Amino acid sequence: MQALVFDGELRLADVPTPRPEKDEALVRVLSAGVCNTDLEILKGYMGFKGIPGHEFVGIVEECANEHLRGKRVVGEINCVCHRCEYCQLEMPHHCLNRSVLGIQNRNGAFAEYLTLPEENLHLAPPSVRDDVAVFTEPVAAAFRITEQLTITASDRVIVLGDGKLGQLAAQVMWLYTKQVTCVGHHAWKLELLKNLNIGTALSTDPVESGVDIVVEATGSYEGLRRALELVRPEGTVILKTTVAQPTALELSMPVINEVRIVGSRCGPFRPALEALALGNVEVRPMITETYPLKDGVFALHRAGEDVMKVVIHV
Ligand SMILES: [Zn+2]
Ligand SMILES: [Zn+2]
Repeated sequence: MQALVFDGELRLADVPTPRPEKDEALVRVLSAGVCNTDLEILKGYMGFKGIPGHEFVGIVEECANEHLRGKRVVGEINCVCHRCEYCQLEMPHHCLNRSVLGIQNRNGAFAEYLTLPEENLHLAPPSVRDDVAVFTEPVAAAFRITEQLTITASDRVIVLGDGKLGQLAAQVMWLYTKQVTCVGHHAWKLELLKNLNIGTALSTDPVESGVDIVVEATGSYEGLRRALELVRPEGTVILKTTVAQPTALELSMPVINEVRIVGSRCGPFRPALEALALGNVEVRPMITETYPLKDGVFALHRAGEDVMKVVIHV
């Protein structure tokens, strides 16, 4: 099969089609989304070598469960052991023996085929088009915040970052409180949220501080610093982005203000699929470019430029 392979450099290659192991399914990839994590991997994040890509929709070609065969699915990316202490504590995302699709010890979705445990797969509702379904994983990541925090209509929320994850976080937060402002550098990106009646501000605009929740989705030192300035005492800062570069930060202010800093990673697929099916989260305007797999190297290069979502059609 054809796949994008990263081994210090990204290239299109012919590689063996993967064989599903016991309890795994072979999935023929239809479309895959490019995420900032993929771009970080190309800079050395996680030291990953292999086929990147973790946001996909595909058709189950082979698996033991006949109810899944031939079905259109999306898939959770953490493959877990069910035996370690974190699995036993029902924290499988933190499984000590996990592999993660296209990120850690498991080949990913920028390929004609991938394998995942059957238990990771969710049927894609027929109303959710392929290019919308590829957003399930990042929308789920935005919903993770709602598992970690109780958000009410009286909460004031600032989302820092107008990129893909920031926009999805702003849209999901907006389902819980209308007092959401997304702060970013790019007027044209913020326009997408304005069209949904979600509050926006340019990074250079003054914004009111003392908010209950700040979601940091810029992945930059500057974003972290600003988040700690904007949050109220005993408020919460959610850290949403992973970056290859280490950051150093002055941490006396969050101590004095007793700020809760919460790391936030993968989230629940069910509410994400429901939000996409109902149109409660609007993702199609975020797709700015699509490419065939054979142009995948260029697609990932483009994803690092001034664009929003790049989707690869396999
Ligand atoms: Zn991602
Ligand atoms: Zn485990």
